[in-house]
Amino acid sequence: MGIKMGSALDRTGSEWQADTYQKGMGAEPLKCRFCSIGVTHNPSYTRELHDKSVFVSAYFRLLPGGEHAANCKYGVQEEISEIAKESQGLLESVKGNQYRMRLVMIKEALEGGAAPTNQSGEGSNARSSKTYVSTPGKLPAYINSAKRALKLRALCASDSDVEQHLELVFEGNTVVNWRQFYFETERHMEAFHAVSQNTTQHPIAIHGYVKSVRRCVGDDKNKNVLNLRMNKYRADSEKPDNGVGLEVSIWSRQTAWFKGIEHDDEVVVLGMWKASTTPPTTAPNEGRYKTFTKNRLSLSLVLMAQITKV
Ligand SMILES: [Zn+2]
Repeated sequence: MGIKMGSALDRTGSEWQADTYQKGMGAEPLKCRFCSIGVTHNPSYTRELHDKSVFVSAYFRLLPGGEHAANCKYGVQEEISEIAKESQGLLESVKGNQYRMRLVMIKEALEGGAAPTNQSGEGSNARSSKTYVSTPGKLPAYINSAKRALKLRALCASDSDVEQHLELVFEGNTVVNWRQFYFETERHMEAFHAVSQNTTQHPIAIHGYVKSVRRCVGDDKNKNVLNLRMNKYRADSEKPDNGVGLEVSIWSRQTAWFKGIEHDDEVVVLGMWKASTTPPTTAPNEGRYKTFTKNRLSLSLVLMAQITKV
């Protein structure tokens, strides 16, 4: 339903701001300020997370099936073709305005990219990729293009806005739905299941809100960690008095890679994740749950561009 819009015009040409608009205030139908396609209002709401509520701003969006004009600044299609132009082949044109992004190239860039891109000489990772040995200079371009595509997705109202113009493929040209690639806060547990159960792993993007950024953990400058805010604990389906939670952690060997990222920032992190589970612990006081189990999704950054600030 296109990129979220902060304001829109009504039938008489009056402009309305999304954060103060309420249904019925403007003369409908409402329309895009730039291309006049019909839009509708999406009210603000709060995401109820484990230890905090996060406010999500109101916005205007396209009506189902609507499409901004080709030159409208809220159109998705033009932005994707711009990204494709500079993507060094990561995004390729399939037909007309349809593109596809090869997740296998991102995976290989991340796995093979560690050695050539680490200029401080600390990396000892062997280059596992044969395909990219001759073109190590392209690896950051792939990740940067993926970052732009993720930023675009984050600005849109739903997966389908991007999916209709940009298809994802993995090994053997298997199509990967955006739903299996891009996980917003509410779906962190689904990402955990995908990482822990899928035999073949493709890169995954996790969206969330920064809970904490800890630099130089234990006085070690190579240990820096960013944790995302957790969802509320949920009852274990097999053992209802056990609460199950999930924490997402991003590790970096470079302190500078978390530069400019603060508490409560909204981010999307792309990479190859690892899943683990801490054994249940006894609840500290009487409550709904007698024990707590914490699942974890974690990754170690290879390139700074794996983090996108929304
Ligand atoms: Zn428009």
